Amino acid sequence: LRSLIVSGDSPARLRREALAIANRILCPGHDAPEACSHCRRIDQDSHPDLIHLRPDGTQIKVEDVREAVRFATGRPYEASARLIWIEQAESLRDTGANALLKSLEEPGESVQWILTTTSPESLPTTVRSRCVARRISPRSPLDLLRRFESAGLSPSDARDASAFEFEPDDPFDLPGAREQRRLLVQSLAEGSVSTSLALAAAVAELDNGPRLTASLLRDAAILAAGAPADRLRHFGAASELGKLAKVYRAETLREAAAEADALEEGFQRSRQKRLAYERLFLRLCRSRDEG
Ligand SMILES: [Zn+2]
Repeated sequence: LRSLIVSGDSPARLRREALAIANRILCPGHDAPEACSHCRRIDQDSHPDLIHLRPDGTQIKVEDVREAVRFATGRPYEASARLIWIEQAESLRDTGANALLKSLEEPGESVQWILTTTSPESLPTTVRSRCVARRISPRSPLDLLRRFESAGLSPSDARDASAFEFEPDDPFDLPGAREQRRLLVQSLAEGSVSTSLALAAAVAELDNGPRLTASLLRDAAILAAGAPADRLRHFGAASELGKLAKVYRAETLREAAAEADALEEGFQRSRQKRLAYERLFLRLCRSRDEG
């Protein structure tokens, strides 16, 4: 079985994809997935033919990788193959990656390796060259909107759910996301040093922090440039975004949005992440004093 690198923008979709592959390999077939003991154990990471590695802190431990490589040499207990899923594979260090190479290249007929990552380019070439790459393309906002509408959401909820890039098939917390958004926009509009620092600490905790920040700044730039609110992605936050648009120039907001987009790559440590947000938010708040 060829080893796979599955990459894409959304950690939630990568997770679903890895689980779908796991189900195909480890579940012999079922009438109802809810009632299937194979599928349930896959979901709970307790299937004996599955190893699921992910970062412990900032990196994937080399001992865990070595254990997975040993696991790959054994015979499956129940299924036709064993499956090893490395989530956030960009967190592999060189020693870990090197320990994998041989097994990735020749896993044999009863082992499937899956590496999921949002930044495949940061994996060592030696790993990439031994795997088949599969990219999950991002969904278009319109496609997402239609899926939420056909799932029965009201037009405004569907619009917000697609603005937040939720997965239509996964559970999501719309009120919680709206509250985060409200706080984010309000803190940016306030623009003091202390709110900027508090905001940086809060946003650094969010998985979708860079994308959410960038999309809100871009929306505010649209309003600051005098365009109508129906062009906004976060139409549901139009009035709050209007306040933001009043205190910053469109160009400043666009630049900050580009900077927030760039934050997405290369974050390994939460401390670095927080500092990067601090720089971004403090620069914004200074630009207001100057303007
Ligand atoms: Zn099943």
